[in-house]
Amino acid sequence: MRVSQIGEFGLIDRLRKFQNLTSRIVKGIGDDAAVLKHNAQRYQLVTTDMLVEGGHFLRSMPAEKIGRKALACSISDIAAMGGLPTAAVVSLGIPEDLDIAFVERMYAGMLRVARIFGVSLVGGDTVRSKKITINVALLGEVEKTRLVCRDGAKVGDVIFVSGPLGGSLKSGRHLTFTPRVKEARFLVEHFKPTAMMDISDGLVGDLGHILKASGVGAALERGKIPVNRGVTFRQALTEGEDFELLFTLAKPVARKLIARFPRKFHAIGQILSRSSGLRLMNNDGKTGLLNLKAFAHF
Ligand code: ADP
Ligand code: MG
Repeated sequence: MRVSQIGEFGLIDRLRKFQNLTSRIVKGIGDDAAVLKHNAQRYQLVTTDMLVEGGHFLRSMPAEKIGRKALACSISDIAAMGGLPTAAVVSLGIPEDLDIAFVERMYAGMLRVARIFGVSLVGGDTVRSKKITINVALLGEVEKTRLVCRDGAKVGDVIFVSGPLGGSLKSGRHLTFTPRVKEARFLVEHFKPTAMMDISDGLVGDLGHILKASGVGAALERGKIPVNRGVTFRQALTEGEDFELLFTLAKPVARKLIARFPRKFHAIGQILSRSSGLRLMNNDGKTGLLNLKAFAHF
């Protein structure tokens, strides 16, 4: 069997059996970051993200922005767990004829975003490769009481996103987005989301991960999903790299958040029982099963 037959997530599912979890590991494969025991108050978080020339960026793009994106993707994953990023190691695969200035500009872009989010760049690895490849492994920390995973959504919870969706690749936002650390910290400190993740593969696919992990279904309300300018509804639902937060809140808390921040956080639907699947409520109030294919690497 080939990778293309089971896809990215089919493959990751098969890799689960090679995990060697111990009592130190709170969470392994299956969330935005792995969660490790750390001290009495906090967990350690660890995540890694890889960008490959051709798929994620082109050599003709500004190198600063490529470096910035490489680190920002990982910061977004730490934010999605409710945590704060701490230190990163950066691995590079580079062709031998690559201009050194390109590499230094990538690092300058990384350092800038690292400083903003309190990340120390502390090492990495360098190898030769045909395509420019950049991998960032990032550590973070979160108070035990503030950890949010993908598996806590409950029937009746309200589903939120932290901003408009779609068109990230076309507009260049995928290179310049701000990881939602501030928003995520605000939410875990004051509103206790039941589940949270960042939208990297598109709303439909990523909500699917929360639903599967939590063993629930959902209905999205078409008229409530914020869509970026120049983007179709379908694109907003399926295009990746928005890096907004997708989270669920128990109804009473959801009402408070809506009352306080009606424009910042968008209530887009509700968690239902698993048997409902993923549904879309159209503007006429009728609902149907949502059958859109999410982004996948294979
Ligand atoms: P994200 O989009 O949030 O970065 P991914 O979709 O890349 O998350 O990964 C989903 C989960 O699968 C994560 O828990 C990640 O650690 C795990 N994962 C992805 N690739 C591999 C791999 N090659 N080996 C083991 N685990 C993996
Ligand atoms: Mg993620």
